Amino acid sequence: MNFYDAHNHLQDDRFGGRQNELLAACEKAGVARMVVNGACESDWPQVLALAKKFGGASVLASRTNQTQVIPSFGCHPWYLAERTPDWLKNLETFLDKIPSAVGEIGLDRWKPDLPYAGQEEVFLAQLRIATERNLPVSIHCLQAWGRLHELLRDHPRPGCGFVLHSFGGPAEMVPAFARLGAYFSFPGYFLHGRKRRQREAFQVVPPDRLLVETDAPDQLLPEEKNRFPLADADGKPLNHPANLPAVYEGLAEFLGEKAESLTARVGENFRRVFGEIR
Ligand SMILES: [Zn+2]
Repeated sequence: MNFYDAHNHLQDDRFGGRQNELLAACEKAGVARMVVNGACESDWPQVLALAKKFGGASVLASRTNQTQVIPSFGCHPWYLAERTPDWLKNLETFLDKIPSAVGEIGLDRWKPDLPYAGQEEVFLAQLRIATERNLPVSIHCLQAWGRLHELLRDHPRPGCGFVLHSFGGPAEMVPAFARLGAYFSFPGYFLHGRKRRQREAFQVVPPDRLLVETDAPDQLLPEEKNRFPLADADGKPLNHPANLPAVYEGLAEFLGEKAESLTARVGENFRRVFGEIR
């Protein structure tokens, strides 16, 4: 089976430079492609380096079953304050360097002490670039779903669609977002018993709009489903990207669908959104 990871952060420093090892495990686990999201200017070079080493072109030249990295560049709302004055030009420079997606971008009213002021401008500037280039864009949203819907509704959006990564919005809003072109991505974290509301929203996601992600190194799945225990240098647990098949299986079980058919369907959806990037 081929598994597609719609959202992770393989470049994250918490992995301690073990990316080769992580990708070897992903390859063995059947992970075909993964979207690796940059979150701030300072990590874009690392995302680019991974894509150059493990991206489509390099893979075609070597083994065909190697896990492929799709690079994505964006400024996440948590890192707004770290932008340089040239950040937007810098973003376009990275997008010009290699076939890539836009993200992670977003809106966040949940994180304590994070200012909301300025988030919408930064979000819209990046949405505009993604739209002009018709690139898929990965969106983070916490406690700003109504406003996110208004902004997406009232502005041009990429024709290829956009991804609501780790979608935790209300089930009632799924049809409205789907009408605008949304894909809804499910993380292993929602397999925890207490995440029932978030899981249930995926029961109403249109079959052709469902994606699956690890968000590694974050959003660890429940202990009994974690096949690749991993920790950072301080011993804090990390989510291993090779946990991806376990996320597919957990979601299939919850939705009452055969894992093979769900995996095939999500693969088709993934290739529709990200397939042009190679
Ligand atoms: Zn993320």
